[in-house]
Amino acid sequence: MAQVVRSPKLYDVCIIGSGAAGGTAAKVLTEGGLNVVMLEAGPPLNPEKDFKEHVWPYQLPHRGVGVGGEFRHELGDEFMAPNGAWEIEGEPYTSAPGSQFYWFRSRIVGGRTNHWGRIALRFAPVDFRARSTDGMGDDWPITYEEVSPYYDKVESYIGVFGTKENIPSAPDGIFLPPPPPRCTETIIKKSCDKLNIHCVPSRMAILTKPLNGRAACHYCAQCGRGCITASNFSSSQIMIPPAQATGRFTLITGAMAREIVVGKDGKAESVAYIDKATRSEKRVHARAFMVAASACESARLLLNSHSTLFPDGLANSSGAVGRYLTDSVGSSAGGYFPQLEKMPPHNHDGTGGMHLYMPWWRYDRKNDFLRGYHIEFGGGREMPGVGEFDRICKEHEGYGASLKQHCRSRYGTYIGFAGRGEMIPNEHSYCDIDPNTVDQWGIPVLRFHWQWSDNEINMAKDMQETFRSIVETAGGTFISRAKPDGAHPYGIQDGGVIIHELGTARMGNNPKTSVLNKHCQAHDVDNIFVTDAAAFVTNPDKNPTLTIMALSWRASEYLLDQAKKGSL
Ligand SMILES: Cc1cc2nc3c(=O)[nH]c(=O)nc-3n(C[C@H](O)[C@H](O)[C@H](O)COP(=O)(O)OP(=O)(O)OC[C@H]3O[C@@H](n4cnc5c(N)ncnc54)[C@H](O)[C@@H]3O)c2cc1C
Ligand code: SF4
Repeated sequence: MAQVVRSPKLYDVCIIGSGAAGGTAAKVLTEGGLNVVMLEAGPPLNPEKDFKEHVWPYQLPHRGVGVGGEFRHELGDEFMAPNGAWEIEGEPYTSAPGSQFYWFRSRIVGGRTNHWGRIALRFAPVDFRARSTDGMGDDWPITYEEVSPYYDKVESYIGVFGTKENIPSAPDGIFLPPPPPRCTETIIKKSCDKLNIHCVPSRMAILTKPLNGRAACHYCAQCGRGCITASNFSSSQIMIPPAQATGRFTLITGAMAREIVVGKDGKAESVAYIDKATRSEKRVHARAFMVAASACESARLLLNSHSTLFPDGLANSSGAVGRYLTDSVGSSAGGYFPQLEKMPPHNHDGTGGMHLYMPWWRYDRKNDFLRGYHIEFGGGREMPGVGEFDRICKEHEGYGASLKQHCRSRYGTYIGFAGRGEMIPNEHSYCDIDPNTVDQWGIPVLRFHWQWSDNEINMAKDMQETFRSIVETAGGTFISRAKPDGAHPYGIQDGGVIIHELGTARMGNNPKTSVLNKHCQAHDVDNIFVTDAAAFVTNPDKNPTLTIMALSWRASEYLLDQAKKGSL
């Protein structure tokens, strides 16, 4: 049996995970005066060395796609910020028979905030009271008004660009000026104007002006590779350094939390973790614990922390840990725009992402489905991505000069659209512990169960119809592989693919049906907080990370307040 090494030190708080949730908690708690230790499963990050923001394809072997093009799939080339992947060697997860779920994980300081698209949207007031509005799902135990001051704090600190639009489904925030629309975005906006679809400046966590000592974006459009100047948001560059500067922060990397250990009094007292370098088990002790390992990892940790007092997993007397799992509804299509072939060469540089987007616009009428979706889009003369000309090569007969000429004329003429919509939790979509599989550290892994309902499929259908209208109104040719039937009706993506998985330890006023109270504090164990998207009650059409940070900030201030009152 592995020897257990115990650390004699007692920290005020132990945070598990250094992504959006963990990084925010680290900053707020240490600046508030608490001594914090953070366990992070991945290695440290060195932006100068690890980010390939300005690397050219010819500087990497195989132009970045690996031997035989092995990384030639979405999110998988060698340019991307490190240690994020759909599959991690030695750390599997499984899908139950009949279910298909994909789980993108990042094992590195900053987690997936090194990789994210930086789309930073507030939830709307109605998103917090879903059940009261249409009778489905549940209401949050908090309102928009309670979260709004924390959105203000996060936006003011990290920097988000956008414009005030007064659209009910997309509340305005504290914004930096947006970058101007590019030629492709102007074409699409004109089409949306004709169709009465809102098309407004996007809201992204990218600096268009210097902020808090960080330089403004220099428009290299490569955010997914990481940003050496920290002009976009990552927890590794924006949240962890201020925590370190307090002198009250201990970061332990390569530390895979296995179990939260509970004392006889029913309070959590330590975390048992695997020190990956030595493969030995160690422990850290703290007065309180912030579980922030990402929604499904946090559920896994709670479920694996069972004891005599908590036989079904820690903080799980409700049985809700792992349940209510949702992801965004995603469906995509695109268009070929012949007018772009004639466009003279011009500078298409911009931020690493869209400058305009379409917030949900049909909130004031009855639709064929409940809730709503927003549309993200992009294209034009961006730096060609890996495999960009594959389709043209397949379609075009011939090779050499004629193929090259064909690629040149088609370059920049495609604009892609992606719908991101709300999934309503259902009893068939959840994760639990796979009784038959452990990872390389001997820790039982998650098993995913997944099913879309008709509501989501109807939404995907509507997305496809909308994309077609926008493309054709703009004079383009609609291109979509979506079919009404089969495994992906109307192009609906498999569960997890949109990487907005959440809800697995939801908050609520009723301890029988929820895991956390409105401060992200476990009903069953009051010195445990879960501050990532596991706490979410609904998964509205907005990407979740801004809300993760707002809730983690709010929970951290509550914990600081408790500490001041001597209740830690
Ligand atoms: C390509 C991509 C694009 C995205 N685009 C957007 C977007 O535009 N807008 C948006 O809102 N969201 C987006 N997301 C989602 C966003 O990245 C996540 O919502 C966000 O990072 C979640 O934050 P988190 O702190 O919960 O988890 P993570 O950022 O995943 O961080 C969790 C950390 O915990 C560590 N960890 C896990 N298990 C353990 C353990 N047992 N012990 C110790 N440490 C552990 C991990 O190593 C990781 O560092 C995107 C994600 C990806 C990958
Ligand atoms: S586009 Fe801007 S924010 Fe993104 S990587 Fe380049 S400089 Fe950084």
